[in-house]
Amino acid sequence: MAKKIIVIGSGFGGLASALRMRAKGFDVTLVEKHPDLGGRARVFKKDKFIYDGGPTVVTAPYLFDELFSLFNKKISDYVKIVPLDLWYRFVFNDGQTFDYNGDEKAMETQIKKFCLKDYAGYKKLVNFTEKIFNKGFSDLSDKPFNNLIFMLKQVPALLKLKSYKSVYSLVSSYISNEKLRKVFSMHPLLVGGNPFSTTSIYTLILFLEKKWGIHYSMGGTGSVVNALEKLMTEENIKIIKNAEVTEILTENKNVKAVKINNSEVINCDYIICNSDPPNVYKNLIKSKNNYNFLFKQKMKRMDYSMGLFVYYFGSKKKYDDIAHHTIYFGKSYEKHLDKIFEKKILSDDISYYLHRPSATDPGMAPDGQDAFYVLVPVPNNLSKINWSNEGDKFKNLVLDKMDKSVLPGIKKNVVSDFYLTPDYFEKDLATLHGSGFSIQPKFSQSAYFRFHNQSEIFKNLYFVGAGTHPGAGMPGVLSSAKVLDNLF
Ligand SMILES: Cc1cc2nc3c(=O)[nH]c(=O)nc-3n(C[C@H](O)[C@H](O)[C@H](O)COP(=O)(O)OP(=O)(O)OC[C@H]3O[C@@H](n4cnc5c(N)ncnc54)[C@H](O)[C@@H]3O)c2cc1C
Repeated sequence: MAKKIIVIGSGFGGLASALRMRAKGFDVTLVEKHPDLGGRARVFKKDKFIYDGGPTVVTAPYLFDELFSLFNKKISDYVKIVPLDLWYRFVFNDGQTFDYNGDEKAMETQIKKFCLKDYAGYKKLVNFTEKIFNKGFSDLSDKPFNNLIFMLKQVPALLKLKSYKSVYSLVSSYISNEKLRKVFSMHPLLVGGNPFSTTSIYTLILFLEKKWGIHYSMGGTGSVVNALEKLMTEENIKIIKNAEVTEILTENKNVKAVKINNSEVINCDYIICNSDPPNVYKNLIKSKNNYNFLFKQKMKRMDYSMGLFVYYFGSKKKYDDIAHHTIYFGKSYEKHLDKIFEKKILSDDISYYLHRPSATDPGMAPDGQDAFYVLVPVPNNLSKINWSNEGDKFKNLVLDKMDKSVLPGIKKNVVSDFYLTPDYFEKDLATLHGSGFSIQPKFSQSAYFRFHNQSEIFKNLYFVGAGTHPGAGMPGVLSSAKVLDNLF
């Protein structure tokens, strides 16, 4: 009889690992606390507007293709993923813009608008990020970092790639213009890190975007979730919704069952957790007898990613000039990030990412209207900000800022809206301290130093998703499921 695996959680890490383990012949059951799948990629529908809850920028789409190929199926029969011409429009607080895409000629023109000599630096930066990508992504993103010797073997190469530098510092060694430095160093924010403290290994994202481009799945990222759910059903993976795992039952150094909604117990041979590892170790495993001193220190020393304030809104006016992805930089950069990550206080001088799917896919909004979300990085809940008091005020601040910059008149045009704060990430998605992306991608929290894909405490407990190796973002969590392929 096939051995039984329970996957806890239906984020992309959970969905991908369920499929990969099923392809290996295991009997797989996936349990999800919500009535719908996707985790951070859940879809919200309100007043005929459709909102992807989280991920919108699809990079490395081959990682999704692979999941269908495992069963000799084609993703194109399930969902349509299209490349975007314009990747991001960066808007600075003085109104200047930078259009970022995969066309080198266009890049040259854009960069020279800001600084003639930085084009040469940019080309050198791209060459260097290719080397980082070859090591950090191609070689290591799907390898288990369960033992220190394997980690130590990587150190010489990582030092050669200047992984001791921060992303901002590496970018600044090639680029002199302050605005361009922001453009080319912002990528860690997409995976929960501060560009001033995230290891420069994460500049690999810059090259990853160049290699495969930036894509959108028609119908929204939610249509990828639906496609994966259909594939799972076809392949006889059992999916149990509205099923919160309230305890993982253990016996010595093994896990043996999950308890659902404080009642039903399901036995299994292995558990794969897509639930946030710090939360699992703190709250789902009740007996801490096996946690040794070093592991307890690891739990204590972790730094968590920033929180997210996400405001979803429908506009009766269509803003045809607004790109699919806009990143707006407020006045300050380093100081602003310091307030979010270190001081953990709110600031008036916000930066944000604005998503307008109806730029590519009019079906996301009623005819002649626009669906948006704006994502604003804020401190995580270690800040003790009371979002019940601050939420509406902060929403009005965000609306006011957009009204005065990229979306003139938006305050009068909003016809439907709601927002999520770090409280949603903490309570609904069970992420410690309401962090948007689990633990930060610092060097001291990467690879071996992150929570291991095969638990450092329990033999038959595994992790996929943002809090384990290689880390957050769709390419990261899909790669974490590939790590399991190498472990089973
Ligand atoms: C607003 C936002 C925008 C983003 N934009 C992008 C982007 O454009 N591109 C990109 O690549 N990445 C983006 N990301 C990051 C990316 O979405 C995440 O890193 C990734 O989707 C996380 O997947 P995961 O596998 O870690 O699982 P998660 O999505 O975190 O899902 C975990 C699941 O586990 C479930 N769960 C937790 N505890 C239990 C329990 N006890 N019992 C049962 N179920 C449980 C939760 O309900 C949830 O469904 C974004 C993230 C956010 C929040």
